[in-house]
Amino acid sequence: MKILEPILAWREEIAALRRDIHAHPELAFEEFRTADLVAQRLQEWGIEVDRGLGGTGVVGIIKGKQAGPRAVGLRADLDALPMQEINTFAHASQHAGKMHACGHDGHTAMLLGAARYLSQHRDFAGTVYVIFQPAEEGGGGAKRMVDDGLFTRFPMDAVFGMHNWPGMRAGQFGVTPGPIMASSNEFIIRITGKGTHAGMPHLGVDPVMTAVQLAQSLQTIITRNRAPLEAAVLSITQIHTGSADNVVPNDAVMRGTVRTFTHETLDLIERRMEEISRHTCAAMNCDLEFEFTRNYPPTINHVAETAFAVGVMRDIVGADNVFDQVTPTMGAEDFAFMLQAKPGCYVWIGNGSGDHRDAGHGAGPCMLHNGSYDFNDELIPLGATYWSQLALKWLAQPA
Ligand SMILES: [Zn+2]
Ligand SMILES: [Zn+2]
Repeated sequence: MKILEPILAWREEIAALRRDIHAHPELAFEEFRTADLVAQRLQEWGIEVDRGLGGTGVVGIIKGKQAGPRAVGLRADLDALPMQEINTFAHASQHAGKMHACGHDGHTAMLLGAARYLSQHRDFAGTVYVIFQPAEEGGGGAKRMVDDGLFTRFPMDAVFGMHNWPGMRAGQFGVTPGPIMASSNEFIIRITGKGTHAGMPHLGVDPVMTAVQLAQSLQTIITRNRAPLEAAVLSITQIHTGSADNVVPNDAVMRGTVRTFTHETLDLIERRMEEISRHTCAAMNCDLEFEFTRNYPPTINHVAETAFAVGVMRDIVGADNVFDQVTPTMGAEDFAFMLQAKPGCYVWIGNGSGDHRDAGHGAGPCMLHNGSYDFNDELIPLGATYWSQLALKWLAQPA
């Protein structure tokens, strides 16, 4: 593994920074302390800082010694999740109900490591923008930064993202051209019937039976309407109705999520959901309110930039440790908004199988968004090296 020497020397210092961020998690658009810390470090290292894009976003501007036509963006996310940490190690969350369970503390640390390296090795032509975005976890901070003029104020050829991936070995990377994460969309279906005494159901209109029928019928979209080779998920995750054993309730509410890799499949599912909901409710004499919200689009890697990133990763960890055709997941990622605006590529860096876990960790190895997750500090030098080499090689390309 070819880790850049100076980055290796800062490993403890940057790991300490990571743990400090982990201990002080902040939720979407409230990343004030974290953004202060990032901006302070960047400035200490002589990097020009812009603040306020997307609310708490921070952009570091690292110019090479030579002017050049090229510019590249590297992006990390700052926010934590509204959930309880169950780890008891020294750097566990100090804020009840808030936790860095997705490793954004580590993403921030890896990008800071790269920013420090690049600021001290400016023998390149062009500009590197290090982008620290708020609110990845559902808030769409990436979109807010793009809407606030990220790419017009800081023109760049391409933008790159990276996420740690538990279960993949530390020292390995995974990526694929095309879709790598799904679109995420939420729905709320409100069914209104007419409540009655449960012993006299014929005097009312039962929304419970309607919800049950609808839940079954909606699954036929996945099995009967969707093309079999198009990935899609339709999960009904909540059905709320009723309050007593002897009462037919007035109404029922169903909620859930839809995931797809293409806009066409998403259009189809949304249209069929509304049709089936409307007709089922009509057949059962219930009224319907149908609400479908598109949150994050699919994260779609651009082919040329993915090939470029794969080349950089192979140079660092060897071809055997780069999986360049990983199976995409139905998770979602708001970096998708940046990839809609600019070419680029989003990669996974292996977080290991839990070997980094020691005393104070909760039960067993776990996935992201688990209360006993922790970012693996071993990755920091590798991630920072990838970012640095990616930027330097990108800028070194002929214009
Ligand atoms: Zn997450
Ligand atoms: Zn995440």
